[in-house]
Amino acid sequence: MALSPYDELHIYYLSGRLDAGSQPFAGGYLGNWEEEDTSFLFFSRPAAEKVNALLAGQPHLNLLDSFQMTYEQWQGARIEPMQIGGFELRPPWWQGGENPPCENPRRLILDPGLVFGSGTHPTTADCLMALETAFSQNRPETTLDLGTGTGILALASASLGCRRVLAVDLNPLASATAARNVSANAMTDRILVVQGRAEALIDCPAELLVANLHYAVLEKVMAAPGFGKKPQVILSGLLRSEAKAAKERLQQRGFRIDRSWEHEQTWFTLYAVSASF
Ligand code: SAM
Repeated sequence: MALSPYDELHIYYLSGRLDAGSQPFAGGYLGNWEEEDTSFLFFSRPAAEKVNALLAGQPHLNLLDSFQMTYEQWQGARIEPMQIGGFELRPPWWQGGENPPCENPRRLILDPGLVFGSGTHPTTADCLMALETAFSQNRPETTLDLGTGTGILALASASLGCRRVLAVDLNPLASATAARNVSANAMTDRILVVQGRAEALIDCPAELLVANLHYAVLEKVMAAPGFGKKPQVILSGLLRSEAKAAKERLQQRGFRIDRSWEHEQTWFTLYAVSASF
């Protein structure tokens, strides 16, 4: 029987960000998701005393709310082994944490932790299918993964034979989760995870760009000079009207749409190839 370390989540929603260098809490602390000027502290057991002590020491923080839910509720699905295309995804805790030796190079150990990219969301699954398409047509040596979340698409690129992958996420909890997954798959020689903004790193040269991001960021990514220099791009996280706008933008930037995926007419993923490639 599989036991997730995240069974029960106790979440404390604070206004303000913790002081740099704040010590992680002992016992049951899972991580801190910071967004704008708010923080979500995650624990595997009740931690009101710890949070009160934190607030006393850092008076710029305020407790706005607290929640309790199961990990399944947080992730929106039960996290268990799954197959997407040729990829086999396995949480590290499956079968008591042991992953039996396996011949499939596309079996990936993936601990989604508290961030996006477990494989259960249609945009992630469609990006994995798009990666298989891109690698079957023109195997890229380098990939830029913008908005890496758990690192799932970076791991998938490396497992398809990509030699160097730069995986970027703005959120420190996501970049830490991705780095942990890269280590768990012994891919630190091929994947570098950095915490940073997609808009700032889009000009890094790469033969393939994969970006599953919200449209406000994708618009900036598509406008950057370095975007037009990518031979192949996969864009996802697109709602229907956004997909239409993204197709037009891609064509203006010299790409032809090679293939697209959609899920219930809601989520769209585009794979495009530079006309000069
Ligand atoms: N790549 C994973 C997947 O396909 O499942 C995760 C995609 S998730 C929809 C988007 C990720 O982008 C989140 O982890 C979020 O923290 C990150 N993100 C949001 N805005 C960003 C930005 N401006 N620059 C870099 N990462 C960003």
